[in-house]
Amino acid sequence: MPRSASRPPLRAPVAREASGVTYLLRRSERARRLRLSLDDDGNALVTLPSRAPVSAADAFVALRRDWIARQLQRYAAERARHESRGPLRDGGTFVLSGQPHRLDVRVTSRARTTIEHDDSIVPTIRILRAPADERPLAPVLERWLRREARAAVERRVTARAPQLGVTPTAVSIRDQRSRWGSASRAGRLSFSWRLVLAPPAVLDYVVVHELAHLAVFGHPPAFWSLVRSVVPEADAARRWLRAHARELHWSLS
Ligand SMILES: [Zn+2]
Repeated sequence: MPRSASRPPLRAPVAREASGVTYLLRRSERARRLRLSLDDDGNALVTLPSRAPVSAADAFVALRRDWIARQLQRYAAERARHESRGPLRDGGTFVLSGQPHRLDVRVTSRARTTIEHDDSIVPTIRILRAPADERPLAPVLERWLRREARAAVERRVTARAPQLGVTPTAVSIRDQRSRWGSASRAGRLSFSWRLVLAPPAVLDYVVVHELAHLAVFGHPPAFWSLVRSVVPEADAARRWLRAHARELHWSLS
């Protein structure tokens, strides 16, 4: 079914202020209730059902002032960490497995571009470019990172599945914007490749989380006890993901 026929276009958001907080207001025909979020540029954004009065958005923003302030602080911290790393370039820094790595880019006489991960002295990602390869660094790195992610996730699945007494039927690697992993009732697991950028303990937690869903659906207390029985530091990993989600999504920009 063509999407454009059933999806009315979103109207451009307008800037407003309530109780000293500047925010963007967007009307949506599809929203059933008022929603408050932070957009990709770090603006508080209220999505309002088309029939709700604007005063409802102002009142909500006033009520959630402290929450907005905390989100803006977190956004600024992530932005600052991201910017301190600078652009992707030879001699630049790229965070892999939670560790800053030096990017070492060389043009070689090889027929194909290859990437080497070398932690022997200074953690380094060495990109050995084929002379004819003129792609920007981001897609070159992303292809490699997806393969690294697959290998890392598969290693953790193999180690953790027996501990949880489950057997996944398939594991896939994706780039979902809003979730780090998912599990289907048929036993198929999928994970964001960006988890390979996070500390290994965080990737391990997400793998255990999705494997645990093969034993317990939803997030009842029994689910969390199962997860914590295998990964006692699960809460720290969840906090890490909340504090670094945007950074992982910005990593190649
Ligand atoms: Zn879950």
